[in-house]
Amino acid sequence: MTIAIVGAGLGGLALARVLHVNGIDAVVYERESSRDARGQGGMLDIHSGQRALHEAGLIDRFHAIARGEGQDMRLLEPDGTLLLQEDTPDDAPLERPEVDRADLRNLLLDSLPENVVRWGHAFKSADNGLLHFADGSSATYDLLVGADGAQSRVRALLTDARPAHIGQNVVELGIPDIDRTYPDLAAMVGRGNYWVLGNGKSLAAQRNGDGRVRIGLSFYDTAEDWLATSGIPFDDPAAARARLIDLLPGWDARFTALIAACDDTVVPRSITTLPVGLTWPSTPGVTLLGDAAHLMPPVGEGANMALLDGALLGLALAAHPDDFPAAVKEYEREMFERTSAAARMSADMQELLMSPDAAQKMLAFFQPG
Ligand SMILES: Cc1cc2nc3c(=O)[nH]c(=O)nc-3n(C[C@H](O)[C@H](O)[C@H](O)COP(=O)(O)OP(=O)(O)OC[C@H]3O[C@@H](n4cnc5c(N)ncnc54)[C@H](O)[C@@H]3O)c2cc1C
Repeated sequence: MTIAIVGAGLGGLALARVLHVNGIDAVVYERESSRDARGQGGMLDIHSGQRALHEAGLIDRFHAIARGEGQDMRLLEPDGTLLLQEDTPDDAPLERPEVDRADLRNLLLDSLPENVVRWGHAFKSADNGLLHFADGSSATYDLLVGADGAQSRVRALLTDARPAHIGQNVVELGIPDIDRTYPDLAAMVGRGNYWVLGNGKSLAAQRNGDGRVRIGLSFYDTAEDWLATSGIPFDDPAAARARLIDLLPGWDARFTALIAACDDTVVPRSITTLPVGLTWPSTPGVTLLGDAAHLMPPVGEGANMALLDGALLGLALAAHPDDFPAAVKEYEREMFERTSAAARMSADMQELLMSPDAAQKMLAFFQPG
């Protein structure tokens, strides 16, 4: 019985690893040409997904690469008022540590036998037990798992649902080696997350393991084509930074200084999600996991759910090695329930972030009563 996983992201690799630990072979087809072909970028906050790393036998190695101090948090209003500061004690439990996405992916990749991941295989279509790739090659499968992310091509085999824009557009920037280049801004941002929330806009800065501070500027209640109509010249980074500062009238000078200090990598990102509670009739031979199954707003659940999906599908297949349809049904039943709850929670958080008094609401969220 051949298990073909399309996509070597966190979910697909977690599945391959848990299958391997349980003595079941699988092949992962990934469109990128190598593990370093594309920057993985950014930190992930891993909480419920730690269970998947337990099942994968990798939790100790995860703790070695996780950054506990990345749990630090500062919450501010656009006028510079500090509403909340939480610093993580050195001996605090690693409940929601941050980890570099590339480090976590490498941990999973290194835990698999060579040749499990077939690089340079872009999935195009599947029929009659055959996968077809963009380069004209093909491969057989008994079970096809679509772990191919937000723009999944496998998804169309199970549902007509497509990601839709949710009125959020993000511009990502960053300051490299901030401790050396801008020590005052480094001290201001601190060791973890630095959030400024207000009036339909937000700035989220985050310290990465390599000393870079990544900054995401979000513009809420904006149209799908806003990035093209906003007047931000993405091909001229200095002018783009100047335009972004113009788009934040009345914001404290320390926040605009953060933007002015960024380097020339300016990346637009339009945020889309799948419908909350998406399901499909269980179909023998095909299933989905991770963003392919339940793309959510980026508020800290997606990677955790993808890891859990992979691990739990792996365990279900290990429990029913001779009955893949039963394993898929069991996996999907649990996955639909768990991920629709996470998607609802993420949608609520998204609504909070989009509200005019987002900073005060976030403060109440962290300090109820
Ligand atoms: C800015 C940002 C910050 C985030 N922060 C967090 C966070 O802190 N915590 C959290 O839990 N989540 C976070 N998320 C969400 C998280 O990144 C995703 O939910 C998670 O990566 C999904 O994993 P996945 O394995 O389903 O898909 P992906 O990680 O997207 O992997 C999909 C893989 O499939 C490959 N692929 C795609 N198409 C094909 C094809 N046709 N053929 C072959 N291969 C293909 C891709 O190259 C990729 O390697 C964040 C998301 C964003 C955008």
